[in-house]
Amino acid sequence: AAKRLGRPLDSYCASMREEVRQRHQMQQDLAEAIKQEQLTMAYQPIWDNRSGRVAKLEALVRWYHPQWGQVSPADFIPLAEEAGLIQSLGALVLWQSCRDLARLQSSGFPELQMSINRSTLEFQTIDPQASEWLRVIEHFELNPSDIIIEITESLLMESSDQHRIRIEALRQAGCKLAIDDFGTGYSALTYLRTFPVDLVKIDRSFVRHIPFNEQDSLLLDGIINIVHNLGMQVVIEGVETREQLNFLCHKGCAFTQGYLLSRPLAFDDLVNYLELNRNG
Ligand code: C2E
Ligand code: CA
Ligand code: CA
Ligand code: CA
Repeated sequence: AAKRLGRPLDSYCASMREEVRQRHQMQQDLAEAIKQEQLTMAYQPIWDNRSGRVAKLEALVRWYHPQWGQVSPADFIPLAEEAGLIQSLGALVLWQSCRDLARLQSSGFPELQMSINRSTLEFQTIDPQASEWLRVIEHFELNPSDIIIEITESLLMESSDQHRIRIEALRQAGCKLAIDDFGTGYSALTYLRTFPVDLVKIDRSFVRHIPFNEQDSLLLDGIINIVHNLGMQVVIEGVETREQLNFLCHKGCAFTQGYLLSRPLAFDDLVNYLELNRNG
């Protein structure tokens, strides 16, 4: 019996070892890709429904692996966090996003804002004044109020003084603050009271079943109202259908983002897209 059991266990262990090896390889490749600046950015337009224009862009990092092809950031961001690479990855993302925003602003799109994702871990190593980040914004002669820092509820949940000081410094300098994936964590509404932000990005799970599911529609309508009454902007993510967009416009939601409007675009495609949609 022991012998019969031995086999699957051996192969199980072998496949575990193989997985660990692959993970390790992937981390090394990622470290190299960051060093060689092989990560690129895609930008997803965020529309202002009121003006009928693209008002903001979300910067989304991309990694093309020579062997595995396009790797999802949902996979390699956690890997970067685990491997202590998130700081250098984040620095590269900030640099490229600011550089590209400056290019866009000076080539006919002066009002665009750039929304940049920050991992909670990144807040643990920057200096208390966040001058590391502010220097990059300054380097490209950008107005800090055109930069939106996207954080997740997990940062608010931990909410150590250490984090608060850095966030306060960024806001003092004029940067905007957004909560990403709003509604996927716990007691989300409490945070809005104790932790003022400029923008709330509602997770796409809230949009999926509207307008056909009445419960979801009521819930979303309520959230939009609450956030607006608190004086914050609302961005709805994951808008994929005409019906969803109509519902949201009807509810007075100003900002929408999703595949219906545009997928995340490489810089050149983005410029074409912006030019085509210049006049709303
Ligand atoms: P996120 O911040 O919630 O970004 C939105 C994700 O939803 C993006 O996936 C985007 O491509 C996708 N998306 C946009 N519109 C739609 C839609 O209509 N339907 C659906 N189903 N999806 C839509 P992406 O680019 O694969 O990024 C995944 C996650 O990886 C991001 O989620 C974010 O948490 C993380 N991430 C991406 N770039 C960065 C970065 O530069 N830094 C950090 N720290 N995290 C990043
Ligand atoms: Ca985001
Ligand atoms: Ca999100
Ligand atoms: Ca997310």
